[in-house]
Amino acid sequence: MINTMVEYKGGGFDGCHWQWNYFMFDEGGTFHNLFSSGRKGVKTELEAQNLLADPNREHYSVKVTVYDMSVPAEMHDFVDGMVASTVKQLDAHMAELTTAQLRGHCTECDDLHPVSDMNAEDWTGDGHGIEFFAMNLYCSMECANAD
Ligand SMILES: [Zn+2]
Repeated sequence: MINTMVEYKGGGFDGCHWQWNYFMFDEGGTFHNLFSSGRKGVKTELEAQNLLADPNREHYSVKVTVYDMSVPAEMHDFVDGMVASTVKQLDAHMAELTTAQLRGHCTECDDLHPVSDMNAEDWTGDGHGIEFFAMNLYCSMECANAD
């Protein structure tokens, strides 16, 4: 498996709180754990293969989504649709471990930019006071502050 990013629901810390988790296979086929949490977190290539091969994976409500990183439009859709602060963290982990780079559209002007150059803004709480999320990515502070 190459050029593939996988998103799934990681296990919660207290049994009900969960996070999006990610792993990827880079262009050389090397496995990278980008983000894993809790009991269901995938930390090894073997666990990744087991998750992908499991025909019942949807029944565990782990919500596995497989992205083809060689298709730019597919990755742009992911970046544009995901919570911005999560995308920023993911992009930073990816930059540490691989040469892959996420790109997405500015919420205001719709220009395409590397996520590392963008600002995550429009912060909101999760309703429990546990975590705060930035909802949108902007290419500049001018765009972030525009009405
Ligand atoms: Zn912009």
